Amino acid sequence: MLSVAEALARITGAFAPLPAETVSLANALGRTLAEDVVARVTQPPAAVSAMDGYAVRAADVGAVPARLRVIGEAPAGGAHDGTVGAGEAVRIFTGGPLPADADAIIIQEDTERDGDTVVVKEAVAAGTYVRPAGLDFRMGDVGITAGRLLGARDIGLAAAMNHPWLRVRRRPRVAILATGDEVVLPGDPLGPNQIVSSNGFSLSAFVEACGGQPLHLGIAGDDQATLADMVSGARGTDLLVSSGGVSVGDHDLVGRVLGEQGMELDFWKIAMRPGKPLLFGRVGGTPVLGLPGNPVSALVCATLFLRPALAAMLGRSEPEGAHETAILGTDLAANDRRQDYLRARLSIDSAGRRCATPFPRQDSSMLATLAHADCLIVRPPLAHPAKAGDVVDIVPLSGGILGI
Ligand code: AMP
Ligand code: MG
Repeated sequence: MLSVAEALARITGAFAPLPAETVSLANALGRTLAEDVVARVTQPPAAVSAMDGYAVRAADVGAVPARLRVIGEAPAGGAHDGTVGAGEAVRIFTGGPLPADADAIIIQEDTERDGDTVVVKEAVAAGTYVRPAGLDFRMGDVGITAGRLLGARDIGLAAAMNHPWLRVRRRPRVAILATGDEVVLPGDPLGPNQIVSSNGFSLSAFVEACGGQPLHLGIAGDDQATLADMVSGARGTDLLVSSGGVSVGDHDLVGRVLGEQGMELDFWKIAMRPGKPLLFGRVGGTPVLGLPGNPVSALVCATLFLRPALAAMLGRSEPEGAHETAILGTDLAANDRRQDYLRARLSIDSAGRRCATPFPRQDSSMLATLAHADCLIVRPPLAHPAKAGDVVDIVPLSGGILGI
């Protein structure tokens, strides 16, 4: 059986960044930047005031109180055209351009106005409350690097850098197919022995949260003809993700049907839990990721393999192999040969450390515990028994702009 690391390397190695497209800033949230954003302006373009007050020559207010003659005004968006001479001041507002020969701002609260005269009550050093030209960034500076998942702060910075449009990666189109005679869509009539399908919806949401465009194909029954028919709905997409039907049971037909359609199989089983049956291959040029049917296995495998596949298509700079750690909240028994991912809650212990406590029962059908979990505790193959207080690797269950 393949290790998780080997399976991940094979999957991410099979995808390359998709072509770029242009979107307006209003449509850029959650997209992945395809080209660096380079400032087209210098900000601020010239020295400006950081406060409401008076622009002065610091040398004039060395001894206070100092009386200065107010010779003009510099509001934001306006300017005082003349210079500030000895004994002079210009009334200035936040964002107002610093007049020539002034070198400091006295805040309004430290002054008293008396007609054309301002009395300055506090001395200041040169440069006080002055924002020099280019304080934020200069024309030509790289503000955001390609591969970044764009959030509100990035969009603000791109706007400030004078970019109304951005080059982003096309969203990966991901066809999602649930399988099983026993599963029906939420809200549909439930026959005897049937259950409600969650995988199509969780996986569609997952794809969207990771920046992809899901195409929910529906549910294929456990017969070869329907399955073959529905698989054809994935034509033209960047990836087909199925759930269920990849195990070794008599009704697990996904591998067989894909095989008949000429699938080049890469691998079918990996040494992990939950999610031993995981199929990866390519049918007619379209990569296929066959996830297990159990709702927890499907989503844990999506977290470990689908998300990096989407990141590879988006050219996203995700830290390779980055892991976080936490303190174990309970003892754990030794592990077998499969890498284990335990649903756990995070809390802060009395020493202020982040603590991960697994749910007592880890059955892969229990979707509620996955929904309530904050992280997965990673137990490597053949791990020795672990004690409460030991440091363990975790996979946090959040991320993406929308959260997963
Ligand atoms: P399978 O891999 O098809 O044998 O499915 C494994 C388990 O997952 C079975 O108990 C199925 O009923 C369940 N399952 C399969 N597909 C779904 C789905 N779309 N939603 C919820 N449970 C599912
Ligand atoms: Mg099934």
